[in-house]
Amino acid sequence: MRDTWDSHVHLESSLRLRAATDTDDALNETVRLRKVLQTFLEEEIRAGAREIDVRINPLTWWRRGVAWPELRDALREHVAEASSIGVTMRVWLTVKRDASRSQVSGVLRLASDRGDLALAGFDISSSYSIEDAMSIPAARPPLSGMRWFAEELRRESLALAIHCGAYDPPRDIATALESLGAVRIGHALPLARSDRLIRLVADSGAIVEVSPSAACRQGVPLDSHPIRVWLDAGVRVAAGSDHPLALGTDLRSEVEIIRRLVAAAS
Ligand SMILES: [Zn+2]
Repeated sequence: MRDTWDSHVHLESSLRLRAATDTDDALNETVRLRKVLQTFLEEEIRAGAREIDVRINPLTWWRRGVAWPELRDALREHVAEASSIGVTMRVWLTVKRDASRSQVSGVLRLASDRGDLALAGFDISSSYSIEDAMSIPAARPPLSGMRWFAEELRRESLALAIHCGAYDPPRDIATALESLGAVRIGHALPLARSDRLIRLVADSGAIVEVSPSAACRQGVPLDSHPIRVWLDAGVRVAAGSDHPLALGTDLRSEVEIIRRLVAAAS
């Protein structure tokens, strides 16, 4: 596991967006986006990140009045700025599993209008309030219903990542790998329940993005996080800070927690 790689972090993390809104209500939304991107990048670098896989929800910005061309151009500039100081920033667009098909199709269309922005791929997640420890994700259709989406991504040569949290059924992990061809599994907490699935993930070579603080928020106590079992089975893991502001964490803290978990279990 590389301690300079934040494999799973959300840009908007509502607190960051709220802070930018509270401090200067008069900013137009494109300027606010750029401010959020700037502080995000600074925070990640302070936390030791040299490689960042950032998740961005284009619908969040569209609803705030930032159209895709503005979002795309701001992202491209920040990817270039990061690169100029030796930091690799990969952009993943998120779609919600509980969104309507027309919304998902709309986000997918952005991929063909990505211009010079080197998109890594798309991430399927669920609507969920990270700030509320009691929140559970919205009801959502079976993951197998996203097969059409996975096929479209393949045509665009874009990768697919899936969020599988504590509330998701174990079969979602099998569906993600076997039916949708996902190469990243966020959290992967249902993996704790099945040796067969652990072997499936290890054999697939997919990367499991581990965020112990987020898992804890979903009811998995730190000392029972199964990462050591996954590593012993040959699962590829990478640390992710997920929602650093809402969770009061950052990449450095998550890496430290993971190292402690692995050491304690040996
Ligand atoms: Zn996440």
